[in-house]
Amino acid sequence: MNKPNIVILGAGYGGMMTTVKLQKSLNINHATITLVNKHDYHYQTTWLHENAAGTLHQDRTRIPIKDVVNMNKVNFVEDTVVSIKPEEKKVKLENGELDYDILVIGLGFEAATFGIPGLEEHAFTIGNINSSRLIREHIEYNFAKYNNEEEKNQGRLNIVVGGGGFTGVEFVGELANRIPELCKEYDIDKALVRIINIEGSPTVLSGFDSQLVEYAMNSLESRGVEFITGAMLKECKPESIVYEKDGKQEEILAFTTVWAAGVRANSIVEASGFETNRGKIEVRSDMRSPEYDDVFVIGDCALVMNEETGKPFPPTAQIAIQESSTVAHNVKVLVEGHDELEAFEPNILGTVASLGNSDAIGVVLGDHKLYGWRATVMKKVIDNRYLLKLGGFGLLTRKGKFNIFY
Ligand code: FAD
Repeated sequence: MNKPNIVILGAGYGGMMTTVKLQKSLNINHATITLVNKHDYHYQTTWLHENAAGTLHQDRTRIPIKDVVNMNKVNFVEDTVVSIKPEEKKVKLENGELDYDILVIGLGFEAATFGIPGLEEHAFTIGNINSSRLIREHIEYNFAKYNNEEEKNQGRLNIVVGGGGFTGVEFVGELANRIPELCKEYDIDKALVRIINIEGSPTVLSGFDSQLVEYAMNSLESRGVEFITGAMLKECKPESIVYEKDGKQEEILAFTTVWAAGVRANSIVEASGFETNRGKIEVRSDMRSPEYDDVFVIGDCALVMNEETGKPFPPTAQIAIQESSTVAHNVKVLVEGHDELEAFEPNILGTVASLGNSDAIGVVLGDHKLYGWRATVMKKVIDNRYLLKLGGFGLLTRKGKFNIFY
């Protein structure tokens, strides 16, 4: 290939790490690297629930792309991808079009609402900086409004979170920390506020060890979180939700419903005509799409099968970051005109879920269980390790989490 055009779509975990690796490993005379992203910043998706609850300001979560990417080596395009035309090797943007020789798709996820009436219109989702900030401001507005109405409306103080998976549980943990502060700020009796988590399975955090789940639920319940498990959310209205449990429907007044029960790959992938499995591109072992030798897929847009379980690996930042090593290596191999691409081999180091700022649960190094402050420390080590890998000590000192014990 004569100075190929490498185009990377999305500056999330997968796209950013691929870009940073390629800017180090490729000579700018040998290839042109273009990174396309909606905004001029990268954000840590795994911190968005903190922004949504208001326990962490969004400026801590976002990282200007120019602080990490060398603009002399990478052509950064701030634009929105509209569609991909793999047959023509083109990407349509809102404000133009790009040609590529090698494409990396890292456009992340969007909420899946499974056709539940009213969810798309009335529920909030934790999807990016803007949607997370909106949740924080909506909760604050309702708290402020509560004392300014003659007839008090309990719906303003009820927060329903749909889904007791990783994101839903981490979010209610942050809310449990934030609500006492908000109550003080807005002269509201803490006992009036309800944080309600609704989960369809018999337990939250399904897939986690049962002892850890019990610990998590006790910790959160002791801080005021209510769990309604084995319950299906049936409808979301502007000021209430309806759920069904044991064949009976119940309605809860709530001006704030946050849907955290499902994600799918960015729909651009399916709409662009790629062959998909559950909305994602089931990649070959070298992370290329099954149909195109010049298209790599990374992160939440890629489906990687776990041979041991016969199920796909869940979409995580951990996997997206690991995939970036394989993708960057294989892109370089193609640029150099070789054809021996390496296979992606996930190395799951563990999973840690935060339960607010000073509590967490996790499993690391195979089956080693962690609770409380040890898990909290581990969570922050994981976060800081990513910053170090992405932007070195400078980025770590600017954005790292060092408030380990409170
Ligand atoms: P993302 O990181 O989502 O990045 C996608 C990028 O593409 C974004 O920059 C976006 O702006 C850009 N983009 C999207 N559409 C367009 C477009 N049309 N045009 C241009 N740019 C576009 N995983 C873990 O491993 N550990 C955790 O603790 C954890 N916690 C989580 C907590 C929350 C609240 C959430 C929501 C997720 C969590 N995850 C966690 C999952 C993890 O965040 C995702 O799996 C990961 O972000 C996927 O990375 P990605 O590179 O595919 O996409």
